[in-house]
Amino acid sequence: MAQYTENSASKPRILTGDTPTGRLHLGHYVGSLENRVQLQDQFDCYFIIANVHAFTTRAQQPTDIRQSVLDIAADYLAAGIDPGKSTIFVQSEIPAIAELTFFFSMLVPFSRLMRNPTIKDEIRDKNLGDSYSFGFLLYPIGQIADILAFRPALVPVGEDQLAHLELTRETARRFDQMYCGVDPQTPDEQYVRAGGLFPIIEPRLGRVRRLVGLGGPGPHGQLLKMSKSLNNAIYLSDDPDTIRKKVMSMYTDPNRKKATDPGTTENNPLWIFHETFNPDTVWVREAMEKYRAGAIGDVECKKKLVEVLVALIDPMRQRRLIYEKDPAQLLAVLREGTARANVVAEETLRLAKIALKQDYRPRTLL
Ligand code: ATP
Ligand code: MG
Repeated sequence: MAQYTENSASKPRILTGDTPTGRLHLGHYVGSLENRVQLQDQFDCYFIIANVHAFTTRAQQPTDIRQSVLDIAADYLAAGIDPGKSTIFVQSEIPAIAELTFFFSMLVPFSRLMRNPTIKDEIRDKNLGDSYSFGFLLYPIGQIADILAFRPALVPVGEDQLAHLELTRETARRFDQMYCGVDPQTPDEQYVRAGGLFPIIEPRLGRVRRLVGLGGPGPHGQLLKMSKSLNNAIYLSDDPDTIRKKVMSMYTDPNRKKATDPGTTENNPLWIFHETFNPDTVWVREAMEKYRAGAIGDVECKKKLVEVLVALIDPMRQRRLIYEKDPAQLLAVLREGTARANVVAEETLRLAKIALKQDYRPRTLL
């Protein structure tokens, strides 16, 4: 049985990324970005800007998608991702991903795809009705290819991605069993040792699995996640004035009309944000007690939150301004990253074609 040994770099790989449907926000920061910045010394990191996936909901806005690609690259650099250590690349420039998507699509039953809860949530929260494209349903398969093309050890993501990662794990098992002769009884962590091409990847959740948005509950009563597409986000590029306006008008306890009314801190984004971002935990604990007792106003607590968020975001925004003014530098980072990413993804595709017995013509990408 063929052994698919680790590629060039000796460090284990990480693959994760973002869809360029807007700029990055605090949800991305605590859900995944923070982790990525911390892990970039220990791991060989690949960060994909999934521009093809942006077309699933924005096929009519190619100019916006292009701008978002640059915005996300600027956000990465501003948040502390170092292009000297990590590889930032654009999905559409990696042909192996598109080719693997086709092969993987044969391994996933259509009914299994339709049971994916993240897909159902997205259709509901983004009001896609029944007008979504075939490509929208294809994107979880595309995501399997995004990930497995890099045969990573770890995939840092937010909670909404777990359903997709489960599908990735199932597909890797199926491929390895079907084409690499791996025994179905093999424990997940042994698949590669047992001759499998694809590892059964591990998700790594961030400090916060799912940060809520500013806007309160959705049509079904639960607080919506902070999302680029739902217009309920504070961006890493927001200036202090924008942050102030967003926080001062954010959703809190709707039943509280004045500062002396007892308030609910549970399921209240104001307190979720304080608990997530305010380093002064003593203040937070005391203020929450006062809030529940009707002894502190929303305005005071919101002003405090503005201070906390500006202190976190403003250094990133300042760094970002430098890159924003220099799209040529951003494009250079993306080009170099894309070249590095293609080396890994092409090697995976070559090995996949051998396993599939469809290796007729070796190729090299220039
Ligand atoms: P879109 O609305 O276009 O789907 P998004 O804001 O959901 O955008 P994605 O590009 O889909 O962002 O997600 C990128 C990564 O960030 C994923 O790992 C996702 O789990 C994580 N993420 C996104 N939003 C949040 C959030 N509110 N809390 C925690 N993690 C998040
Ligand atoms: Mg999303």
